[in-house]
Amino acid sequence: MSHPDVIVVGGGIGGLGAAFSLTRQGLGVRLLERAPAFGEVGAGIQLAPNCTRILDDYGLLNEAKSLGLVPDAMVMRDAVDGGELTRLDLRNLERRYGYPYLVIHRSDLHGLLLRACERAGVELITDAQVTSYENTGRGARVILSSGASHETGVVIAADGLHSLARRLLVDDEPVSSAYVAYRGTVPAEQPRVRSVDLSEVVVHVGPGCHFVHYGLRGGELLNQVAVFESPKALAGAQDWGTPDELDAAFAGTCGFVQERLPFMWRDKWWRMFDRDPVMNWIHGRIALLGDSAHPPLQYIAQGAIMAIEDGWVLGEHVARRRAADGTIDWDAALAAYEAVRPEHCRRVVTTSRKWGELWHLDGVAREQRNALLRTRDTYDYTFVDWLYGPTALTPDEEPPMFEPIPLESAPAYTVR
Ligand code: FAD
Repeated sequence: MSHPDVIVVGGGIGGLGAAFSLTRQGLGVRLLERAPAFGEVGAGIQLAPNCTRILDDYGLLNEAKSLGLVPDAMVMRDAVDGGELTRLDLRNLERRYGYPYLVIHRSDLHGLLLRACERAGVELITDAQVTSYENTGRGARVILSSGASHETGVVIAADGLHSLARRLLVDDEPVSSAYVAYRGTVPAEQPRVRSVDLSEVVVHVGPGCHFVHYGLRGGELLNQVAVFESPKALAGAQDWGTPDELDAAFAGTCGFVQERLPFMWRDKWWRMFDRDPVMNWIHGRIALLGDSAHPPLQYIAQGAIMAIEDGWVLGEHVARRRAADGTIDWDAALAAYEAVRPEHCRRVVTTSRKWGELWHLDGVAREQRNALLRTRDTYDYTFVDWLYGPTALTPDEEPPMFEPIPLESAPAYTVR
């Protein structure tokens, strides 16, 4: 085996994105994945302009568009009465940010990045479970469960929510939200699906639950996600999120949502965890990336996007810190990465939590929220400008954050 410049641990969307970005900068990258084969479980994923901008820079946007679907609008509806609350014109969004909003099957996005890595010459190794990380004098080393050792200049740990590498930096655990997600894809020609408008990304928001649907693969598939708060999780039970809880959670929702529930996969569900933000992602020559650094709740659909942004930012800083003889000042590149990414991701993780609270309101608060959202101007982009604009490379480039402020203390949303 050749001696790689960088080792990436984890072959998810984050690890593959980082491996491609660094290979593009002329580095030799070895990627280690513990699973016996590369792949992604799940259904659809939403990619906002801050991600499609990067895919375009990578030369991958046209292929992504051909595999996915560019919707016309994002619509929020009340899950109880089905009424429209607000909408975002996604075609205008493309004009505003220069890049489209795209929805794509996870396995298609993962396959796209995997093929890009293969073409770029990333050394892709499966059945390679990393069991320990350590810094050496001149770089870092990982040890595998097989006993094999891999040494290199830098290790990027893209090892997901249950990251082993994260333990080098912080003694924390995933935080349970007590919410669980069911997913499901249905062929669009299925008779009970034919009437669904696949040009829209729709979220029905309800008390303690929400339901998302949108088209995939150019309109061949309908993607559905049903998310709810599990009473069993709140009671401390171990077997939480079971299908009986799914049916009970959506019992009070409108006919449209009820009709969709039989199409959810019922043999698998995803319990929703995030972690409290941490601002230190670098341990010597070992760096966290993607969900290992900043797993969010998925309410603003930025988890995989942040992982892809991390890899792009790292690649850009490597390019800026390469000397004429090709050597890279890794300490400076990692410091520049850590100067900008943790704060952005902290904002996304904390905003996602607040967004979930807003979506799941009940009673008077739900009515207040609905009244506010109905008055929102369709062409008001203040709540996404800080996300969908160009990814910042330095803290100075990071746009001011938008936060919804608590409904009981304010009559409207604000930017600060
Ligand atoms: P992972 O996908 O977890 O990949 C980690 C990889 O590392 C895995 O392949 C694993 O096998 C490997 N690994 C772990 N430990 C080791 C080890 N010790 N040795 C070797 N390999 C190891 N994000 C969006 O941007 N848009 C969305 O619309 C969106 N929707 C979502 C909907 C739901 C219901 C959920 C649950 C999440 C959603 N997300 C979304 C979030 C997104 O899926 C994740 O943030 C993203 O996939 C994280 O990618 P990752 O590569 O960092 O981690």
